Amino acid sequence: MIRELHEKIINGKITSVQLTEKYFQTIEKKDKDIIAYLTLIKEGALSQAQRVDEKVKKGEKIGLLAGIPGAIKDVICMKGVKTTAASKILDNYIAPYNATVITKLNKQEAVILGKTNLDEFAMGSSTENSFYGATKNPYDLERVPGGSSGGSAAAVASDEAVWSLGSDTGGSIRQPASFCGVVGLKPTYGRVSRYGLLAMASSFDQIGPITKTVEDSAIILSAIAGSNTMDATSSPDFSKQYENYLTGGVKGLKIGVVKEYFEGLNPEVRKKIEKVIEDYKKMGAEIQEIELPYAKYSLATYYIIQPCETSSNLARFDGIKYGLRMDDKEKTQLENISNLPKTLLETYLDTRQYGLGQEVKRRIMLGTYALSSGYYDAYYLRAQKVRTLIKKDFEKAFQKVDLILTPTTPTPAFKLGEKSHDPLEMYLADIFTITANIAGLPAISVPAGKIKVEDKKMPIGFQLMGKWFDEENLLKVAHAWETRKNN
Ligand code: GLN
Repeated sequence: MIRELHEKIINGKITSVQLTEKYFQTIEKKDKDIIAYLTLIKEGALSQAQRVDEKVKKGEKIGLLAGIPGAIKDVICMKGVKTTAASKILDNYIAPYNATVITKLNKQEAVILGKTNLDEFAMGSSTENSFYGATKNPYDLERVPGGSSGGSAAAVASDEAVWSLGSDTGGSIRQPASFCGVVGLKPTYGRVSRYGLLAMASSFDQIGPITKTVEDSAIILSAIAGSNTMDATSSPDFSKQYENYLTGGVKGLKIGVVKEYFEGLNPEVRKKIEKVIEDYKKMGAEIQEIELPYAKYSLATYYIIQPCETSSNLARFDGIKYGLRMDDKEKTQLENISNLPKTLLETYLDTRQYGLGQEVKRRIMLGTYALSSGYYDAYYLRAQKVRTLIKKDFEKAFQKVDLILTPTTPTPAFKLGEKSHDPLEMYLADIFTITANIAGLPAISVPAGKIKVEDKKMPIGFQLMGKWFDEENLLKVAHAWETRKNN
């Protein structure tokens, strides 16, 4: 899609301004129902588009992404633009600097239409935890788009953006991509700089693209990958032009599957994934059963380590440096509060009590507990040890196979409100995606087709997990299936 639009722009069939305006019109028409966007950046987007058009007019060369409109999850800082993390506590926060990914996209002259909705601070799997209200699934407005990057996935699925960026700590790019019928890539931990991404769980967080096609995913990854001195965990810069690696078949390639993942799976989802496996076989790949004995502890491990890191990362939101401050003025505006805060501690407590949502508070409490003296060894330290064992499972598996194929999600998109009463039910939506974050692996969700859910057809994705820093192979194999013959 990006390549075709690029051709149109350089051949004068469409200008970037026209394209950008067209996307704003679609947003205007659809977004009151879908609520993919929290903030639109009309002026900035159109002036970027204009600059690209002027270059084209002068006959100057432009890159593939130049003038192509996309959207950014509202957990990534953009200088001068509201960055809320969909939290009340950052409702008035204007980022004073650009995240590395934004600087890189600006260098490519990409057009940024706006900031997209998410679960507050990226905690959730449905986008229902947003302070601004839930995003809806474009395929059925009564269903969730997934989360936490639900706005980014819904924006691309509903043609409100050509591409978008999400962040993925336990599945937040891939799970909404699966629910919305788009491609979602979580790069290897360290492939993309996290500088300017509001930290949720720093040892898991990665920024990645959500797009309509695998090629588009490769194009966006090429633009945003690379190391950066502001993020010590970003890996030395050997990023590539990933879109140039999408040729060649999958003959002789070994793809691993885990038998237990298919037991008890929604039968319609199972059929779709089994069909993908059959396709790969027909294309010449070798399917091998593998075992990941510790992977079954992934969810439990994640839900210890993630809250621990979150409780530490979110300590900075205390009403002093950023966003909301529940001081006397704010407080008197609220009903039923007569005691004005008198101490600094009261300001902290009030700010966090009124500024943070329920799920965020739950994680902070869980994390604080698991890190507290006397429990640290029993929970946090133990979970870290299990994390190592899970990583070792993958090291072993990747001696036998080149990639691993799984469902992305156990079910298609669920109804709004269906799981919000039960956090554990919600956590289970990430059962297949979370392991890649625990091990730091790159993983992609690719639309596997649609299945009948009540009176609607809902999309469902399959997941490929690759070796560390082997995004080119991961994208190549995903692309080979997407563009297979007899499709
Ligand atoms: N759903 C998971 C959680 O709530 C993952 C979220 C994410 O990847 N940001 O923690």
